[in-house]
Amino acid sequence: MILNLSGQSKKASGIVLRDARELSLMREAGRIVAKVHEAMRQAVRPGVSTAELDALAEDIIRSHDAIPTFLGYHGFPASICTSINDELVHGIPSPERVLKEGDIISIDVGATYRGWVGDSAWTYPVGAISQEAKALLEATEGALWAGIAQARADHRLGDISATIQRHVESRGFSVIREYSGHGVGRQMHEPPKILNYGQAGTGIRLRPGMTLALEPMVAAGHWLTRVDADGWTVRTQDGSLSAHFEHTIAVTDDAPVILTAL
Ligand code: MG
Ligand code: MG
Repeated sequence: MILNLSGQSKKASGIVLRDARELSLMREAGRIVAKVHEAMRQAVRPGVSTAELDALAEDIIRSHDAIPTFLGYHGFPASICTSINDELVHGIPSPERVLKEGDIISIDVGATYRGWVGDSAWTYPVGAISQEAKALLEATEGALWAGIAQARADHRLGDISATIQRHVESRGFSVIREYSGHGVGRQMHEPPKILNYGQAGTGIRLRPGMTLALEPMVAAGHWLTRVDADGWTVRTQDGSLSAHFEHTIAVTDDAPVILTAL
């Protein structure tokens, strides 16, 4: 459901268009998320547990008068998602999960500030990583930037999807089909669904004021996933490495604005 509390927002294709005041609040939420990622980048190293990362992230979010969006979301028990190696998304932080040299860890962070959500994920190397892991991270981050470049007024949603897919597949990796990006604003997940695969020139037309979370999720092997017995952790079925990069952005009259950056 989309809440529209300002009374000033308009809609296009059923999607809320945010005004300047709303965008500045989302920018604040996004900045807090970016600060968490800055801290994660420095804290990720061999020997650190994912529970320690979670505690650090929660501290930073709360010290900025924000709320960890994920905590309690459909019952999720932590403030961030930490997904290691073949784990793709929704991994639960734990004192028993200790990072080791050569791992890759995807950290997904959400912060709600004055009712507005920022959502961003990044996959970090733990010490020195394999050539395959490096290539996977480069391909997935590159796909995010390529997708963001397509997020311009009068482009269509499918232009983003097709660009992400082409970027990933041309590098020999596969895009996950079972999870996607999304609109974001008052709620973490709002319309539209933003697939990481599709056809250019299809889908809704992008409009200034749309706020979107673009998030390529990529497997080094096959894109099929499964969910662990914990009900949360999503991993590749074939055990191949996976990566996840996400920014919350705003479509404008000009270039897209990244809300989850410092
Ligand atoms: Mg996220
Ligand atoms: Mg998201």
